[in-house]
Amino acid sequence: MLRDFFLGFIRIHILHHASREPVYGLWLIEELGHHGYTLSPGTLYPILHNLEKEELLQSFSKNVDGKIRKYYRTTAKGKKTLSEVKKKITILMEEITDDV
Ligand SMILES: [Zn+2]
Repeated sequence: MLRDFFLGFIRIHILHHASREPVYGLWLIEELGHHGYTLSPGTLYPILHNLEKEELLQSFSKNVDGKIRKYYRTTAKGKKTLSEVKKKITILMEEITDDV
C-alpha cells in the first residue's frame, strides 16, 4: 500500500524538522500538507507517540498564550537514526534514478 511508504516518509520528515527546532502537532500537519501529505490529528498523534516510544522523539509541554502545547524534539538516538536513513535514501535515490 502507498500508505506504508508515506508513513516512512512522514516519520523521516518529523525527525528532520524536530532535529532543527521543537515542533508541535498542528505545525507538522501544515508543514506536511505543503508537501502533499494530508494528515488528520488522529493519524499524526499515533505516529508522534510511536516515535516517542521508540525514543527517537522527546516531548515537553510549554505554555503558549495560556494554553499548554506539547512540543517534540529529536533525541540523540533519533538524530543517529536520521543520519543512517539519509545515507540509505541517498543510495536508493542514486539507484532508482539511474534506472530511468
Ligand atoms: Zn518538511
